[in-house]
Amino acid sequence: MDKIRLERFDSYGYARYICTSCYHCESKMGISYCSIKMRGCCSYFPKFELVDIHRMVKSTEGLNVLNRIIDNPGTVVYSYYIHAKGYFDKEGYEKYIKTNDDDIGIKDKTIFFRACPFVKSGFGCTLPPVYRNYVCNFFICDEVMSKVTDDIVKGQYIRERERFVKWAEWENRSLEAILSERHINLRNNFEECIKVLQDVPLTIFEFAQLKELSVFDTDEKEA
Ligand code: SF4
Ligand code: SF4
Repeated sequence: MDKIRLERFDSYGYARYICTSCYHCESKMGISYCSIKMRGCCSYFPKFELVDIHRMVKSTEGLNVLNRIIDNPGTVVYSYYIHAKGYFDKEGYEKYIKTNDDDIGIKDKTIFFRACPFVKSGFGCTLPPVYRNYVCNFFICDEVMSKVTDDIVKGQYIRERERFVKWAEWENRSLEAILSERHINLRNNFEECIKVLQDVPLTIFEFAQLKELSVFDTDEKEA
């Protein structure tokens, strides 16, 4: 039986949901027709916001991760966030769309042909969890969530994620205000932004304790 649990990184005020179903992903979102196989739903191109960059600038390890993100050929730096674009097999996608009209419940079929720049085939994410964004750290697909039977604890997981997202949006706005007061942003003075963020203490978000959740296969539910 698979499990979902909360892993907390208390000194950073951050956390992630670990779901063991992801180690053997069978969800539609995990289908890959591109060369990078067994990548789960890491077809996503992650966006790193100020709240994520703020965590990275606090350590040498984090700064190395930030450099990796910047050095990725598909990365675009915007004023207050960084978007790391990865692999997309456009030709394969266009061919697929012309010859397939099956409705498998996934609207955006480009995901079958994409891969995040930081995912390694058959291994998973190569970024340390504490530097991944909240989409990466808290997303669990509907297929897995529908196999969770404890609705009370499932609700707590969903609410804790929403609470963190609201806090992160607020934190992003506060950090943006600090940079814009100094007339700097990631595009016009990246180095100075990093120095300013290094001097701003991390605000610690406190996650609640959450009970482990069990993910039941259909057969297990019926047993
Ligand atoms: S969240 Fe769902 S789609 Fe993503 S890796 Fe886990 S099982 Fe697969
Ligand atoms: S950053 Fe890591 S977890 Fe997020 S999409 Fe990329 S490989 Fe997956």
